[in-house]
Amino acid sequence: MVHKPNDVFAAELARFNRSELPNHDVLVRLEFSGINYKDALAITNSSPVVRRWPMIVGVDGAGVVEASDSAQFEKGDRVFVNGWGLGETQWGCLAQYARLKSEWLLPQSKNLSASDTMAIGTAGYTAMLCTLAIEKHGVRPENGEILVTGASGGVGGFAISILSDWGYRVVASTGRPEEAPYLHNLGAVEVVDRSTMSVEGKPLGKERWAAVVDGVGSYTLANACASTRYGGIVAACGLAQGMDLPTTVAPFILRGVTLKGIDSVMAPQDARIEAWKRLDTDLNRDKLKLMVREIALEEALDYAPQLMAGKIRGRIVVNTQ
Ligand code: NDP
Repeated sequence: MVHKPNDVFAAELARFNRSELPNHDVLVRLEFSGINYKDALAITNSSPVVRRWPMIVGVDGAGVVEASDSAQFEKGDRVFVNGWGLGETQWGCLAQYARLKSEWLLPQSKNLSASDTMAIGTAGYTAMLCTLAIEKHGVRPENGEILVTGASGGVGGFAISILSDWGYRVVASTGRPEEAPYLHNLGAVEVVDRSTMSVEGKPLGKERWAAVVDGVGSYTLANACASTRYGGIVAACGLAQGMDLPTTVAPFILRGVTLKGIDSVMAPQDARIEAWKRLDTDLNRDKLKLMVREIALEEALDYAPQLMAGKIRGRIVVNTQ
């Protein structure tokens, strides 16, 4: 739980009564959650993510329905949730219980455990939204290489895994050269140093990428657009380097490049269902294992600053029981 009494920030493991939970229609006994970039921002008070105090953080949750006033769900149903303002304006899922709106919930797939569902979490689901955007744009493996930035992080790892299994040649950009073997194991054919693209570049560079998945923003995103091939697409979902976008219109008006914004938080249920269906059928479970570390709920406070410092590889799953 994060608090701001008298404007002084504190993050702590707290006890609360179920009666204090919000008045939504489904009570879920949570089994697993995760630490996403946004959760780490909230726990470390690094950015104004939290817009209601006090707040239980955690944008992802998976567990079992304990009580339901909704006709859609009944006690014992296995459900999960991603986004919808959890950990920002709504109490989230880094907790043992959450009371959630039935319209936010989806049933867990029988092919994925609760732990795997949370290992994928918002990061994997967002990566799938990005890769589906590339597929729908008509980019085929023979059209050229795909760049994935923030490669050693959560979204990056899933994007590499999915795209390489779909047959694309994936180039991973990272600030951690020591993670090259891991990135190759996920399916990257080449690993590049992120410093080559994180500084100011030219309005247009050499055309290289058929498509890009970018979780980094700022100069990296600007350079990615500038070196995307004619008619290509850049799926932008993140801001790990910065929220700014110091680009020109050149890639868009001279090369017909599409900059596609990806949002997972308020994405409609049909887009979520499509993305999770493809994760269910297409995600390589051996690669998933490479990406995940499981921790206990009380360890989340220690891991969040490490994620902010770029020291976490892949995903952290939190066992909330
Ligand atoms: P992670 O922290 O797991 O990964 C982010 C990665 O970005 C790091 O591992 C690092 O990769 C790279 N990075 C970190 N700092 C910098 C920097 N200063 N310059 C360049 N690269 C940097 O986060 P996620 O993968 O979970 O999320 C990635 C981004 O996507 C975040 O900004 C997050 O907020 C956003 N996001 C957006 C969603 C949406 O709905 N639009 C949903 C989910 C996430 P490396 O060490 O390999 O360089």
